[in-house]
Amino acid sequence: MHRLYETEDLTVFWNSEKCWHAKRCVTGSPKTFDITRRPWIDLTKAPSPEIWQAIEACPSKALTCVYTHGIKVKLETDANRSVAYDNDKLIGECDYYETSDGWEIYHTEVLPEYGGRGIAKRLVYKIIEAAERSDKTIIPTCSYALKILQE
Ligand code: SF4
Repeated sequence: MHRLYETEDLTVFWNSEKCWHAKRCVTGSPKTFDITRRPWIDLTKAPSPEIWQAIEACPSKALTCVYTHGIKVKLETDANRSVAYDNDKLIGECDYYETSDGWEIYHTEVLPEYGGRGIAKRLVYKIIEAAERSDKTIIPTCSYALKILQE
């Protein structure tokens, strides 16, 4: 299971398949990571540096994070894509086809000047998370989406 948690400041990725339940995240920021709560991650409960440090301690890399930099990422299911905006400027997108076998992610792109900020990963996660919530299989023909699914 893949989940994305976002604030204006921080974006957190969680891949449950890699989670060993070592609970270093819980120790590092108990108000943020609470396994008795749903959703178990709440980024509003502690300062970003504390959350960042707790995520750095995750031994399996089930948790990773990037700074959000004010970039908004949203899903547009009518257009079969996720999109990233810097204010009103479209700066990236990830596209998929709906097929009888699942959602085929075939293209991910971010403007070069916005590279290195984890935006492409946010775009892919947005689609993976939505697909999983809808019980759809992800078919990554886009090499970047495949890399994210394998990491
Ligand atoms: S520290 Fe990492 S492996 Fe341990 S419970 Fe948290 S997410 Fe899972």
